[in-house]
Amino acid sequence: MSRRRLIYEGKAKILYEGPEPGTLIQYFKDDATAFNAQKKGTISGKGVLNNRISEHIYTLLGSIGVPTHFIRRLNMREQLIRQVEIVPIEVVVRNVAAGTLSTRLGIEEGTQLPRTIIEYFYKDDALGDPMIADEHIAAFGWASQDEMNEIADLAIRVNDFLCGLFAAIGIRLVDFKLEFGRLWENDYSRIILADEISPDGCRLWDMSSGEKLDKDRFRRDLGGEAEAYQEVARRLGLLPEGEANAVLDLEEHRAKRGK
Ligand code: UDP
Repeated sequence: MSRRRLIYEGKAKILYEGPEPGTLIQYFKDDATAFNAQKKGTISGKGVLNNRISEHIYTLLGSIGVPTHFIRRLNMREQLIRQVEIVPIEVVVRNVAAGTLSTRLGIEEGTQLPRTIIEYFYKDDALGDPMIADEHIAAFGWASQDEMNEIADLAIRVNDFLCGLFAAIGIRLVDFKLEFGRLWENDYSRIILADEISPDGCRLWDMSSGEKLDKDRFRRDLGGEAEAYQEVARRLGLLPEGEANAVLDLEEHRAKRGK
């Protein structure tokens, strides 16, 4: 059990107070939820893999000049991040029709979209994260027009980069969700990428077989979710061949020794 001060507990992550002002520790759980938490379960080792995958992606995004909250990974399940004021909007970027876009508009899953589509959802569990338009964001003051321009620009840059990153390892980036935050410096704030990027919030399909390598395995009871997350980490070069289970076994071993 941690003695650190808990700041917030979400469905898949916990935020603790960080070692210095303006920092937080983001802890990745194995818990998985779907359909606004109506379906609950765990995916063994998910937290370890998501921590590693998200670290990798945020480090690469940082290297191409995308500002993110990531500072460094601390251990198997935790990373040090900058404290931001979260913009209460989930930004979904879509390249291929799937999920709620397919059900809402009757477009067959797997249809390549004629252009990348960005959708916004209001972050509110009680309301089931309803879809919103720019007009709602402006009218209710959830973000300024300048901030929304910045968010849309960053979302497109992240998408372009990730499409290439995943294509190079035989994965089709169908869609994904981003969250942004305001980083305050004196009286000024700027928008940076927050949250995580992992198979929890992305649809990742194997390019040749079409196999789903993401949380849809859990949502749709397909089985093999831990193996799918491991496969993504392995293809990203984060788990040396044959060592996929070794990392998770090591963690279990440490946990048994009470470390
Ligand atoms: N997504 C997410 N959190 C949410 C809703 C969606 O991470 O609360 C991700 C989801 O994993 C997918 C993309 O955003 O990659 C688009 O999701 P969609 O709107 O199709 O909803 P879903 O079918 O996931 O409920």
